[in-house]
Amino acid sequence: MRIVFLGTAGYHPNRKRLTSCVMLPDLGIVFDAGDGFSQIREHLKTQELHVFLSHYHWDHVIGLTALTDIVWQKKFTALHIYGRSPISAVHTLFKEPHFPIRLKQHGFPVTLDEWRPGKEWSIGDIRIRARLFPHKSGGSLAFRLEHCGKTIVYLTDTTVTLDAASFVEGADLLICECNFPNAMKELAIRTTHSYPRLVAKLAKAAGVKRLVLFHIAPLLEKPGMLSREAKNIFHSSVLLAEDEMELEI
Ligand SMILES: [Zn+2]
Ligand SMILES: [Zn+2]
Repeated sequence: MRIVFLGTAGYHPNRKRLTSCVMLPDLGIVFDAGDGFSQIREHLKTQELHVFLSHYHWDHVIGLTALTDIVWQKKFTALHIYGRSPISAVHTLFKEPHFPIRLKQHGFPVTLDEWRPGKEWSIGDIRIRARLFPHKSGGSLAFRLEHCGKTIVYLTDTTVTLDAASFVEGADLLICECNFPNAMKELAIRTTHSYPRLVAKLAKAAGVKRLVLFHIAPLLEKPGMLSREAKNIFHSSVLLAEDEMELEI
């Protein structure tokens, strides 16, 4: 499976990072649609797109407003959006006076699929499970994707604890938010975000093979410290995500 990181900042973009978006181009799957989503056009290989939203903060949804350009002159047949209750929140992006085009006026069918506890999705031979973790404004959904014997977990916008270990267990790749360094622990907890010590402890306890840190605070001058701090605890592969970074698992 090929994974492309198109948005790796939290909260707002800076000159190097757009906000949350991770794409699996060969599968037509996208995790979150921050403004990194505006860059998926050149990676779009499938005629349908399945977009899994963790929650509805702007840095995870605002990129959906770039849909007109993303599919311009492409053979695009359907958009499927998955997220927690209330999934109707997606329509807020497409309302006047903020935006002139309704979601359903884009020229292709759109489905909205709301998660409830216990619900799982199958798309062909891809299986996706979700779990809601604590975050401001009603929680954040994490996703566990299994395909061809490989497992990817996408976990963002929460203060991770070992409580997540069973959901993350044995993942080949854990893509986890790490908004702040250890020194900003109090701010991380106050804003329900994570710092390296917590993320690394989770990765270690869950027996994860590779860890990628993303959703990085845009004002952080030396984000490289995040992966160094995580490596002090989790001794396997730790990468700090950059925009346009690609991985194969
Ligand atoms: Zn966020
Ligand atoms: Zn958030």
